[in-house]
Amino acid sequence: MLKHYKEFLSKKTGRYLLGIFLLLLVDTIQLYVPQVLRSYTDKLQAGTLASPEIWQIAMVIGILAIIMAILRYLWRIMIVFTALEFEIWTRKKLYNHWTTLPMEYFNEVKTGELMSYATNDINTIRRTFSGGIIMSVDALFMTVTTIIVMGTTINWKLTFLAILPMPFIAYGVLRMGKLVHEKFRTVQEIFSQLSDKVQESFSGISVIKAFSQEELDLEDFDKINERNFLENMALAKFQARLFPSVRFLGRFSMIIGIILGAKYVLSDTITLGDYVAFIKYLEILVWPVMAIGMVTNLIQRGLASMQRVNKVLDIDSSLEETDNPKDPQGFALEVKDLSFKYPGVKENTLDNVSFSLPEGGSLGILGPTGSGKSTLVGLLLRLYNIPRKSVYLGLQDINDLSIEETRNLIAMVPQDNFLFSTELKNNISLSDMVPDEEKILRSAKDAQVHEEIMGFPRGYKTFLGEKGVNLSGGQKQRTSIARVLYKDAPIIILDDSLSAVDTKTEEAILRKLRVELARHSSIIISHRISTLQNLDEIIYLEEGRIVERGTHEELLALRGRYYRVYEKQLLEDKIQGAGYEAI
Ligand code: ADP
Repeated sequence: MLKHYKEFLSKKTGRYLLGIFLLLLVDTIQLYVPQVLRSYTDKLQAGTLASPEIWQIAMVIGILAIIMAILRYLWRIMIVFTALEFEIWTRKKLYNHWTTLPMEYFNEVKTGELMSYATNDINTIRRTFSGGIIMSVDALFMTVTTIIVMGTTINWKLTFLAILPMPFIAYGVLRMGKLVHEKFRTVQEIFSQLSDKVQESFSGISVIKAFSQEELDLEDFDKINERNFLENMALAKFQARLFPSVRFLGRFSMIIGIILGAKYVLSDTITLGDYVAFIKYLEILVWPVMAIGMVTNLIQRGLASMQRVNKVLDIDSSLEETDNPKDPQGFALEVKDLSFKYPGVKENTLDNVSFSLPEGGSLGILGPTGSGKSTLVGLLLRLYNIPRKSVYLGLQDINDLSIEETRNLIAMVPQDNFLFSTELKNNISLSDMVPDEEKILRSAKDAQVHEEIMGFPRGYKTFLGEKGVNLSGGQKQRTSIARVLYKDAPIIILDDSLSAVDTKTEEAILRKLRVELARHSSIIISHRISTLQNLDEIIYLEEGRIVERGTHEELLALRGRYYRVYEKQLLEDKIQGAGYEAI
């Protein structure tokens, strides 16, 4: 259960235990106070209390109160700090672990679920470590020691009779706590539905608006929000009834103590001082007995959350990584008979794909949707495991390189051009801890987006909305290209990244890329022949197989699929051109 947390526990257990020790020290002092009161009352009754002694006792109680206040502060700091650090540490560990997991995992698990691991579950674990464990240690220690002190220093029989209702209180709290827990779970479920709804609505806000679905969407939202309100109210009402009833139960012990205790005093079995101390002890006892019921639930909840988080941490990153990575010799890429299928899929997505990309070379990939182009790129970036002896990078089997090294050698502009909601310049310098302003400008210029950025009122400091909503499709693509140029990796991959720019801009970007050819190899996936025609080699993929390959001229001479695409695009261009002329 705790194996994932060893590193943290080995460092911080000492402070945590010291916190618990201080807490128990406070408990012990607290148990001493009624004893002071007892001797005080007894002396007061016997008339043997000298006036300086009154001051002395008051002083003792005052000093004890100060000591307790300081100790209470210290144990809280120690425990709460450790628990908070534990929360941060666990969240970081979980996050780090996620980054090592293969894409299959993220294809399966919903964003909402990932969010709830990182927030709800980890918060619950923290609460268990701060509140839960402390309360249980405190409650058990206090219950046992108070009863022993009451029995030994006052009277066992009286103690026994007075604490008779206590197990019922603990049981009652436990039962009610379970009900609270169930209601709490419903509230949490509805809350996560609410977040899912908000997340989905805003992600699809343009579709909602375009299809005039605002009212329906609002209705949906209102329904969930209303349920959220009702369930929260139900929980609040239940809790409002719960706490007073538990306190009421607690008073039973007190009533027994007051009545029986008085009888014991009258029959001289105990002294008046004993009586005062006894009542004080009963008062002390109510809280830990209630706590025993409460913590049981809290700890159960914490363990359940820990199990959920452990399940994620237990997932072995199914990406195989060598323990002794080799150094790549240059960055030539060689793909030999690469076949691949996604887990759980019958057919091969890639079938015997072979090509080579020498340093500074360029390769174009053309093929219908679903032919395996993105899969090929994903494999090169090691998002999935690659069979041995099928991909060589820098003269080494790619499996013998560290994944980080491979991803440093290759930079990709993905199809979806994801931009983060931060300043534009940070999106470009993403790969750099210390951004180089000059390099940002150069990359943006080479990606043909600089002029437009300068046209924004805040220029490079423009804050992008979520997913870069305030940029046009073409601007997003070129910002993503600038990001890759900034990274300056030896191999650049553009996955259909020039589709939203016009042919002129496209040419300018490709020209820039070509200027840097000696330093960069490039793989360019595109549906446009104009993007591909000047590349060293072009392959045509169909159902995961290379069905045609060669230079632009060679492919045209083949008069096959490539040629047909070329003819079609030529015709389209002509029609468009004619259209413009007519206008
Ligand atoms: P392209 O980029 O050429 O459009 P892809 O590489 O995206 O093609 O997809 C190739 C094939 O692999 C398609 O049939 C697609 O449905 C399938 N595929 C893509 N991703 C996955 C995945 N994560 N799991 C299973 N099949 C997938």
